[in-house]
Amino acid sequence: MKLSKRLAAISALALCTVALQGQGQGQGQAPAAAPAQGRQQGPPGGFGGAPIMHTIKEGKLYWALAGASVGFVIGDTGVIMIDDGFANASAIIKQVTDKPVTTVIETHDDTDHINGLYTTPNADKLKIIAMEDNWKQQWTTFKWTEKPKATCPQSPMPPAPNVIIRQDKVATTIDGVRFVFHHYGPSHTGHDLIIELPDYKVAFIGDVVFDADMFPDHPGMPAQDHGMFWKSEKRGTPLGMFHNVDELLKLDVNTYIAGHGTDTLTKAQIKAKRDAIKADYDKEAAMVRSGMSLEDLRKAVGEDKYGPRGGCIAYVDLPWYVYTETKRDMEELKDRGTIK
Ligand SMILES: [Zn+2]
Repeated sequence: MKLSKRLAAISALALCTVALQGQGQGQGQAPAAAPAQGRQQGPPGGFGGAPIMHTIKEGKLYWALAGASVGFVIGDTGVIMIDDGFANASAIIKQVTDKPVTTVIETHDDTDHINGLYTTPNADKLKIIAMEDNWKQQWTTFKWTEKPKATCPQSPMPPAPNVIIRQDKVATTIDGVRFVFHHYGPSHTGHDLIIELPDYKVAFIGDVVFDADMFPDHPGMPAQDHGMFWKSEKRGTPLGMFHNVDELLKLDVNTYIAGHGTDTLTKAQIKAKRDAIKADYDKEAAMVRSGMSLEDLRKAVGEDKYGPRGGCIAYVDLPWYVYTETKRDMEELKDRGTIK
């Protein structure tokens, strides 16, 4: 780290202290996060910008936003981080506790959620909890990515998850704090992990639902996408998102923390997002069933008037999902076959 950057980091942490000791929620300058996925430095709270810290329960539970969210759960002896997506994320929590970071839980493998691991002290000694497919996906993406490395630089592989979740509803206690891990099938990716904290009635939901515009550098997300998108190359699916939200609504929690969002979300808010996308999905699926081509569907919903989006991120529009999933559904129903 260059001296100027180090000084910026030190003064930034001091500002964070003020914010945290004030109203429990505020904005400090922290060391700018490394641009993820080819992004440039952004405004406070944005990708590459200074993290904005939020307090859920003083001394116990916090989350910070710098493009992506990072949760901090204070245990008896250490800190459990939920995602580690931006540089020096672990430094922020030093303002409220001297306890070391011992554990990182990954909601999914997207680089904007795990790349801060490079800057977390003793990353190779941490307990890193994730869905089984998270690790397989990291390896595959790293090994087989089709993105041109010159324009979309790849980081080295982060430390691998070493505690694996393979099913829904895994309840455990980590450092004195109760956790329940949920997996409701594919949504944003094929391995989304929901982290429920029953003692706080809070759930960290990764990118199953988020409410921030992910492409400020490519304004004009298609209206029918409602600010969301899914990772086709990682088995994400909007159809799965509807089911995921249905399950999330059943949890005995009142606060949802999304992977990207300027504030926490309520049950009503995640349901509204789901319902709005489902209404567009159903409308488009009816067009596909009536024989419309993908090209005509895109024109019918105005998708064709938007330019390329996402930069180094693979972006697939909602009409493509609706067309592909509806066609597949129609094919499967045509011939059910028999097992003899
Ligand atoms: Zn994300």
